[in-house]
Amino acid sequence: MSETLENLSSETRKFPPPEALAAEANVTADAYAQADADRLAFWAVQAERLSWAKKWDQVLDWTNPPFAKWFLGGELNIAYNCVDRHVEAGIGDRVAIHWEGEPGDTRTITYAELLKLVSQAANTLTELGVGAGDRVAIYLPMIPEAAVAMLACARIGATHSVVFGGFSVDALATRIQDADAKLVITADGGYRRGKPSALKPTVDEAVAQCPSIEHVLVVRRTGQDVVWGEKDLWWHETVEQASPEHTAQPFDSEHPLFILYTSGTTGKPKGILHTTGGYLTQSSYTHWSVFDLKPETDVYWCTADIGWVTGHSYIVYGPLSNGATQVMYEGTPDTPDRGRFWQLVDKYKVSILYTAPTLIRTMMKWGDDIPAGYDLSSLRVLGSVGEPINPEAWMWYRENIGHNRTPIVDTWWQTETGSMMISPLPGVTATKPGSAMTPLPGVTADVVDDQARSVPDGGGGFLVLREPWPSMLRTIWGDDKRFIDTYWSRFGAGAGQGDDWIYFAGDGAKRDEDGALWLLGRVDDVMLISGHNISTTEVESALVSHPSVAESAVVGATDATTGQAIVAFVIPRGNVDTSGDKGEQLNVDLRNHVAKVLGPIAKPRQIMLVAELPKTRSGKIMRRLLKDVAENRSLGDVTTLQDSAVMDLIAEGMKSAKSED
Ligand code: ATP
Ligand code: MG
Repeated sequence: MSETLENLSSETRKFPPPEALAAEANVTADAYAQADADRLAFWAVQAERLSWAKKWDQVLDWTNPPFAKWFLGGELNIAYNCVDRHVEAGIGDRVAIHWEGEPGDTRTITYAELLKLVSQAANTLTELGVGAGDRVAIYLPMIPEAAVAMLACARIGATHSVVFGGFSVDALATRIQDADAKLVITADGGYRRGKPSALKPTVDEAVAQCPSIEHVLVVRRTGQDVVWGEKDLWWHETVEQASPEHTAQPFDSEHPLFILYTSGTTGKPKGILHTTGGYLTQSSYTHWSVFDLKPETDVYWCTADIGWVTGHSYIVYGPLSNGATQVMYEGTPDTPDRGRFWQLVDKYKVSILYTAPTLIRTMMKWGDDIPAGYDLSSLRVLGSVGEPINPEAWMWYRENIGHNRTPIVDTWWQTETGSMMISPLPGVTATKPGSAMTPLPGVTADVVDDQARSVPDGGGGFLVLREPWPSMLRTIWGDDKRFIDTYWSRFGAGAGQGDDWIYFAGDGAKRDEDGALWLLGRVDDVMLISGHNISTTEVESALVSHPSVAESAVVGATDATTGQAIVAFVIPRGNVDTSGDKGEQLNVDLRNHVAKVLGPIAKPRQIMLVAELPKTRSGKIMRRLLKDVAENRSLGDVTTLQDSAVMDLIAEGMKSAKSED
């Protein structure tokens, strides 16, 4: 992308916060003014949410950019903040986790019980020779032990690297090697789609290539057969037998907390390093403010996997530091049937739900009648994260899940940012469907042109962050140069332009006429059509605004006349008949629909109706693979792809389809 991005769509719908919620909201509009007046003082106030063993001397050290240090000289223990202090405050009987296994088995874990488990695990790790600064790989299903393992590492100052339980031997082995981990914590397996799915064999194969691993700690979840090696230890024979007494030691505010690899939408994942005090400050504050969390009464549920940053910040560290009660679910949304999510909301009276656009669009495809069969009246705030949410998906979420009562917070952030950066506040912001609205208090986001100049309202460009923030990544593990090259050398001092260090997130965005921010997808995906930079997101959202469409992915394919031409891949809604002529007619209708909504410049050259789209294991669309297909190339890196059969099907369909023009 060279200059700025076209702003083609316009949105007039607007939803003010519900009055009752606004009246009792944790945060009011004052927060923005306070943060604007003195950003560092604002973050210092938020850091007071935590219990510090030693208070910091300085809020931010930015003398060696882009390497930030937050709350310098401060000391704290993360596990103490997430567990012990709640028990000391007398709420040990509060439920921390309502866990539900996919087969329907359940566990209820109070904060007092969590303290016991985390202390036992901390004692076991110490006995196994794991100490402060050592790395531990965690490869677990969505069971409470995943949170316990992370907190136990944090408690003793070990740095965890959680690897999503669906990853292959290779992905696990390279992550273990990159972090030089000493220990792996895993399970025999977990339940997925109605049956046990093994994890241990993957670990066995990976560990065979990883001499740094001294022990493998294995949780028994499914009871399936495992091959037992000399490094293996059962969790129930070690952790569950260990002493429940453990005193947490404080660590420096900049002590490394975790390494996490990005989800790999654009290519080879990067090992993002997060540290202690700043990370917990911002994840705790945003969880409390953006969801308007009332820990005494809310039941919170984040449907992400613990293997992604959303699981780190908004299942483990944010909610537990706030003393929240949450639901944790092991399995898939369609087991035993497509109502499972709504059955869980109904059963646990979930009041705050945080999920991803991919799931919302899937639910749209499955049909409105499914959520309509459950009591969802407990819900009061809905959240979205992971991809741009198409306005029609947003409206579907609002109407069918929120019953037109609940605010929706569309939260933009990244593995690299550690916590939410751009989002409405549910008691303050009048939201627009599809917009993440405004930077949170204390966050300085901007949309700029290729010279780092702010674009005017109504303009599109590159999303950047102009000032450091507490939960920012500190580096790419073991590769400071890649850290600078990847995030800091496109604009600002790192690019030889001026003195300010400007973080470039990789995403395109626009600022509409009211100043609200709209995320427009990756700038690498931006299409150049007859000299216009057009975002994939706007065309996809136009397609999803057609009543027959559930989901779509759009790419720019090389074209002799226009430079690039738009090729769209579309999943029809479940009830739409696409057989024979009806499919052809839909194709014509959709191309015309886009031209009508966005203008003729955005009319797709070609539309392919497909059953599935290629996605990462965290459910994000991988457009670069579709571009390979659209341009008849062999596929690029597919290691983070969820299901490779999907690409074969699409490639076959593409070959047999004739171009529409
Ligand atoms: P990689 O960096 O390896 O390609 P990734 O960027 O998909 O992987 P994550 O850190 O999990 O890995 O995702 C962050 C990205 O997700 C953001 O940069 C943005 O593109 C997208 N994203 C997250 N939340 C939103 C949102 N609310 N609206 C729009 N896009 C979002
Ligand atoms: Mg990324």
